[in-house]
Amino acid sequence: MYLARLIYTSHPSDNFKPEDVENILTASRRNNLAKSVSGLLYFNQNYFLQCLEGSRSSINQIYHKILNDDRHGTPLILEYKEIVERDFPRWEMGYLPETADTRLLYRRFSGADEFIPYHMSGESCHRLMIEMRKLVKAV
Ligand code: FAD
Repeated sequence: MYLARLIYTSHPSDNFKPEDVENILTASRRNNLAKSVSGLLYFNQNYFLQCLEGSRSSINQIYHKILNDDRHGTPLILEYKEIVERDFPRWEMGYLPETADTRLLYRRFSGADEFIPYHMSGESCHRLMIEMRKLVKAV
């Protein structure tokens, strides 16, 4: 079973409520554990940035489920790659909200101080998430 990584971004929709983050994480951790999918979700009120790692078919199934969720919209795949090793093996779905520390990272990986993942390369988003990994406190 080929190991793969998918990184996408999306916007929260009008249907999204702040308390949905907790519901999304609970469902994600349950479903991802069952499919050996791991990853990280970053959310800064304007954008979701999520990395999913696991078998190609499991990622595909989970991503299709995510696409049908009306709590977000305009999804864009930023990177899809077959990989030899996971970068986020510890978390069924790690979560990181925006903080002063995450804001400091934007300039390093994009051409602007503002975080607009739609304007970033897949590789920059991937590296940004690797740095974010160090800031995740609890799952
Ligand atoms: P349920 O257990 O029935 O759903 C779990 C909870 O979510 C319930 O409280 C339910 O009321 C609520 N819910 C489900 N779908 C919707 C909806 N469309 N609108 C409003 N509320 C809803 N799922 C994963 O499995 N793995 C992921 O990594 C993952 N990442 C996500 C990232 C983002 C940015 C978003 C928006 C959603 C993500 N989801 C993820 C959730 C996914 O879209 C589905 O909602 C979830 O997989 C449904 O789980 P379930 O089939 O077990 O349904």
